[in-house]
Order: sequence, then structure tokens, then C-alpha cells
Amino acid sequence: MTKFKGLAMLGFDTIGWIEKEAPAVGPNDALCRPLALSPCTSDVHTVWEHAIGDRHDLILGHEASAEVVIVGALVKDFKPGDRVIVPAITPDWQAVESQMGFSQHSGGMLNGWKFSNVKDGVFGEYFHVNEADGNLAHLPDSIGAETAVMLSDMVPTGFHGANNAEVEYGDTVVVIGIGPVGLMAVAGSVLRGAGRVFGVGSRKKCQEAAKYYGATDIVNYKDGDIVEQIKDAMGGKAVDKAIIAGGDNDTFDQAVRLVRPGGIVSNINYLGTGDFIKIPRVEWGLGMGHIRVTGGLMPGGRKNMEYLARLIVNGRLDVSPLLTHRFGRFDDIEEALLLMKDKPADLIKPVVTF
Ligand code: NAD
Ligand code: ZN
Repeated sequence: MTKFKGLAMLGFDTIGWIEKEAPAVGPNDALCRPLALSPCTSDVHTVWEHAIGDRHDLILGHEASAEVVIVGALVKDFKPGDRVIVPAITPDWQAVESQMGFSQHSGGMLNGWKFSNVKDGVFGEYFHVNEADGNLAHLPDSIGAETAVMLSDMVPTGFHGANNAEVEYGDTVVVIGIGPVGLMAVAGSVLRGAGRVFGVGSRKKCQEAAKYYGATDIVNYKDGDIVEQIKDAMGGKAVDKAIIAGGDNDTFDQAVRLVRPGGIVSNINYLGTGDFIKIPRVEWGLGMGHIRVTGGLMPGGRKNMEYLARLIVNGRLDVSPLLTHRFGRFDDIEEALLLMKDKPADLIKPVVTF
């Protein structure tokens, strides 16, 4: 193989199919071929909201399960033909930031996010994986390629939201935005023992899925201010934690108003536009309310993929309710991405398996 094709961002607002030279595979790296793919809302932010700046002829996509095709001479645990889970975030594990516990930012802010950001993504006939032993995970036989794609990004991101919110048993948690990421934040919060979970969303399909994942209360942000609606349901009381997985820079305002002194606002939303986020001074305790506001890129890497896969293997997590639209040919990834951009009411997540 010398050349292969992929679906790329050609520039702002434009996608198209291009041909690329096969990438060099370093001694620790691997070359993979996708078995299943899914587009992410982040691809939409990147192309159509210009969120990370201009990119030319950059192959999109960071959600895939795959088969290993070539491995570098120093790769120990993977060989050609292995079926693998591929995390959206593939850090440089020797970087100082990784040693500090923030592998997502190895080599600089967000630099652990390589696919469709700083190098070609997974929407190609082939794609390159750095540090294969540290970043790939063997796909258990009982998990299908389609299910495995949800382990790339949706499960680890939603769960990261719940982890950063430090959800404890009994906690009351609000998840703002119940697309696929928010739904996994609901699932993660429930697994961590949340006592009451509000799912904030407007689409019926997502509301039903949120209930499936354990939301005890559903709030529609189109029915009026969610702070009022939730405070009413809470008898005037504040909640312990708020996880933001939808909305915009002003959603922090609502989240801070919702949580108690000492509570946590955990953002996993990718803020595509604007310069500042909004935090209300008085409700933030005049700067002294001990309300922590945090935001994080999902952690990638092999360990995270292996641990999350166990939840599926042992029946503790079922991602099938996320998969609302299925496609069967590699080329269909273009239609799937446009679907993600248009977000019809019955869409949670499209997946392409071939
Ligand atoms: P999505 O668009 O499918 O879901 C977001 C939902 O929020 C939508 O259903 C939307 O209707 C709803 N929403 C919009 N405005 C709202 C409001 N004011 N209040 C409440 N809900 C509102 O997106 P997704 O695929 O679930 O991803 C969610 C976000 O997470 C995106 O910004 C995505 O780019 C980001 N993301 C982050 C990471 C990470 O590592 N942190 C990884 C993947 C995706
Ligand atoms: Zn993503």
C-alpha cells in the first residue's frame, strides 16, 4: 500500500475525499485499518465552527475500532491481525505532563488529542497510532466492532465528566445536555452511586435513553429556566454536582447557580466559539463559595480502554441505546458525519461498520 483514501477537512466548512501517502510507522507505533467508525460532535465543531483553527486536507475522525496491519519493531503486545479498541486520545506517555497525571496534555495543551487535530484521523482506509503498547487495547471477543467504537470517546468522556465531578453515592447530580456524551455522564454518575440524577435535554429519544441509564428526573430546557425547574423539584435546595455536556459558554452560569457551596461543576463540553465563559459572582459565593469549576478532555490510553471494556464484558454497561443510525460501507462515513452535523430528532449516534 502506498496511497490510501480518507474523508478530510479541506478547509473551514468543507469536507471531501482525498488521497494520502501511507504514514511511516515508527518503532513503537502501529498502522491500523478501521472495522467500525463513528463521527463526533467535535468533528462538527472543528469543521463548521472553526473551533481549533483552520486545517487543510486533514483526515477527520477519532472514534474507531480497528485491526492492526503493521507494528513497529519495538511493539510488544500487538501484532498484525489483532482486533483493537482505539482511544480518541493517544498521549505521548513519556511526556512530563503524562507523569503529572495529565496525559491528555502531553507535549502541550490538548496535545494528547492527535487524531483529527494534530495528525490525520481515523476516517481513512488506514491510520497511524503512536505508542501502540500504551494506547491500543485488545478488543475482547465478546464485544463487537460497533460497540467498541463507543469506547473510543463517548464512554470515556461521559465517565470523565462524572469522575471530575467526584460523584459520590447519594449525590444529586445534574447532567446538562443528554446527547451521547451526556448520556454516558448519566451512566457514569449512576455507576459511581449518585442518588438522584437530573437529565437536562429536549429530545424525546435522548430523554428516554437518559431514563434507561438511570436518570430519575428529566428537565426540558425548552420549557423554561432549568435553574428554576430543578430548584422547584428540589424544594429550593441546590444540587451537589453539575456536569455540562451541552449548551454554550453561558451554561456555566446555570451550572454554578445550581450547585451547593463546595459543589463541583464539571464541564466536558467542547466550547467551539466565544472568548469567555460566564460565572455568576453572587452565586459563586462572591468568589468564596468553594464551588469548583473544572473542565477536561477525556483520558485516552490503554488502561482506560481496558477498564471501561470490562463494564461492557460483564454486563454493567450497555451502549446499544446510543446507536440509533447504522451504515454498512466505509464511504458512508460522509453521510454519517453530515447526520451528526444536522442532528435530526431521532439521532443519538450514527455508526458505520464494514
Ligand atoms: P450532542 O450535540 O449530541 O449533545 C448535546 C446536547 O445538548 C444536544 O442534544 C443539545 O440539544 C443539547 N443542548 C443544547 N443546548 C442546551 C442547553 N442550553 N441546555 C441543555 N442542553 C442543551 O453532543 P455530544 O456528542 O453528546 O457531545 C457533547 C459535547 O462534548 C460536544 O461539545 C462534544 O464536542 C464534546 N466532547 C468532548 C469530549 C471531551 O473529551 N471533553 C469528547 C467528545 C466530545
Ligand atoms: Zn470526540
